Amino acid sequence: MSDESARLTAALGTVPDPGGRGDIVSAGRISAPRIKDGIASIVLDVTGIDASERAALERAVRAAVIAVPEISEVRIAMTSEKVEKTIIAVGSGKGGVGKSTVSANLAIALGRLGRKVGLLDADIYGPSQPRIMGSTGRPELAEKQIVAARAYGVRLLSIGQLIEPGTAVAWRGPMTGSALGQLMEGDWGDTEIMIVDLPPGTGDVQMTLIQKWKPAGAVIVSTPQDLALIDATRAIDLFRKMDVPVIGLVENMAGYSCPHCGEVSDPFGNGGAEAAAGVMAIPFLGRIPLTLSIREASDAGFPPAAGDGEEAGMFRTIAERLLEQVNRAASGGL
Ligand code: ADP
Repeated sequence: MSDESARLTAALGTVPDPGGRGDIVSAGRISAPRIKDGIASIVLDVTGIDASERAALERAVRAAVIAVPEISEVRIAMTSEKVEKTIIAVGSGKGGVGKSTVSANLAIALGRLGRKVGLLDADIYGPSQPRIMGSTGRPELAEKQIVAARAYGVRLLSIGQLIEPGTAVAWRGPMTGSALGQLMEGDWGDTEIMIVDLPPGTGDVQMTLIQKWKPAGAVIVSTPQDLALIDATRAIDLFRKMDVPVIGLVENMAGYSCPHCGEVSDPFGNGGAEAAAGVMAIPFLGRIPLTLSIREASDAGFPPAAGDGEEAGMFRTIAERLLEQVNRAASGGL
């Protein structure tokens, strides 16, 4: 190595790695550093760094390199490996069964198990994730990409952040497709697992997601009510017909635990979803009771999975089972 390239490498080595792996040279982010006629050119790998942090990194690199005496100009080419995300679609037969609540808490629980998780709220009829996750600000734009916000360790984008509340209901195919595209192709950083909270039923958003982004699996949320299950069956059929493995059923609002006397009653019946999962040969991921605390926590933007109560444990178990099923589906077991 010539003296000047050694000085260039040393200067680059003073820049800390935003990913927390020492400096950018030891983190392997620099390739092909060269100096010719006073012009330094380097290739900087920005994989896993948010678009919002890339500009700051570029400035830091530029400042470090220009400080080398023989260098008068710095050229930086940024490259990024496309991180392949595992997409898990969360659907339900009908609205109001707690699909969004389960999606949010599942995403947080997966994050607490050490996964890098994104949550994409594609429910055009009732985009509720910003409220549930307590993250209602407008998302930032960086390099024409919308940047996922962060809440409870999860990256989040919602169709509700692109449109005025209440207007999406009038959307049809192409518009929902392009909105979904903007969210999907947003800046999700190093997200490995993306939970997509779908609208209820079997409409355009489901079709577009399946055809364009091919989820690794689908999770169906249902109440124990028979009617919900009949609707849920239609959603299950859609995924199966389109070759998306249904990797789990979650029974929500199963049994009501009275906050005063502690007695558990079953307003919607109990066990129906588990029995139906058995009949349909779908893994049963778990049961979440109907509790006042879940509803209050969701309304207040404090999902119970982020806490350390009993409900956090339930979502953790569901998340663990989901990961097992994702692995099975990936190895062709479903
Ligand atoms: P969906 O996405 O299926 O339309 P939501 O997740 O928005 O349903 O839930 C509908 C309502 O039910 C919300 O007010 C939510 O707080 C409440 N909810 C969901 N699951 C539970 C539960 N297990 N216990 C109590 N309330 C719940």
